[in-house]
Amino acid sequence: MSEIRRVIAHLDIDAFFASVELQRHPEAHGLPLVVAGAGPRAVVTTANYEARRYGIDSAMPAARARSLCPQAIFIAPDFAAYRAKSHEVWEIVRARFNTVGQVGIDEAYLDLTAIPKPLAPLRALVGELRERTGMTVSVGVGPSRLVAKTASASFKPAAFVAMSREQAVSHFASHPVQLLQGIGPKTAGRLAELDLRSVGDLQRADVTLLGGRFGERLAKALHARAHFYDDSPVEVVRVAKSRSSELTFPTDVSDTGRLEEALVQLARELADGLRVRARRARTVAVKVRLDDWTTVTRARTLERFTDESETIATTALALLRAYAPPRPVRLLGVRVAAFEDELARERDEAPGYQLALPI
Ligand SMILES: [Mg+2]
Repeated sequence: MSEIRRVIAHLDIDAFFASVELQRHPEAHGLPLVVAGAGPRAVVTTANYEARRYGIDSAMPAARARSLCPQAIFIAPDFAAYRAKSHEVWEIVRARFNTVGQVGIDEAYLDLTAIPKPLAPLRALVGELRERTGMTVSVGVGPSRLVAKTASASFKPAAFVAMSREQAVSHFASHPVQLLQGIGPKTAGRLAELDLRSVGDLQRADVTLLGGRFGERLAKALHARAHFYDDSPVEVVRVAKSRSSELTFPTDVSDTGRLEEALVQLARELADGLRVRARRARTVAVKVRLDDWTTVTRARTLERFTDESETIATTALALLRAYAPPRPVRLLGVRVAAFEDELARERDEAPGYQLALPI
């Protein structure tokens, strides 16, 4: 694989939501703090490092977190506050560096290739962020996104680590393969069947043998990742025009109750995705594909921007009921469009201005 010479940094705000809450609740400093909703199905949105010591982690049911550490301070998430803080942080970063590709509410890649000695300004940025926003950022620097991200993720919090590809190859060899971005539990499971468990195992694996199991293309890609080859560029992401969540039923569904239940679930997933990405939208649409492949879309524009699953679900349900599918349903979808940021951008009309918000 040819190597493109790049210098890339990955910036990740440490325990982001918890850090914002700590600023607003200074009495909680040094104590375990968990941000989680209150409902029966609520999950942990984030936990500070004191709470993580008790085994609490993101996406864990809130009830389980409470039993692991009953003395922790539990706070309901305030996404508007996180959005505002995120905006503050990345505006400062964009004011200092040109190529900023935001990939989440609290993380972004920077392409520093054009900067002669990038570590000094990068360190200055970390200090400036701490001073002006109160946020601590972990930084990984390397010749690729893969090295940069792996470094920041492995050494956080308050990491500032630069690594060459070769250093990453030897340093992470003993780590489980799932350390590598793009290798999830499913692929890790299939690799384990070949007795390949660590990054080092995968580095030493025979590509032909891997090809027999994964196909030649994926085998080569996995092997390359284990050797920390990655030539993906930092993309200053454009705003997505819409987001959707769809479900194709295993067998066509006529039962109204089942359809509505599925629709509410889709609306929930969609709203979760919006909140994670700090987006709010005004238009809600449902898509219904019948068993004869007739596809119908119905949309409604709301009075206000929303990321609430209740609002999205209620609107989607009203649209579905108004349509009343005349035949069994094959596919159901919920979509939101007309995002807040997008409209703000249209108002700004600054030439060449690009919003680098996550899609
Ligand atoms: Mg983070």
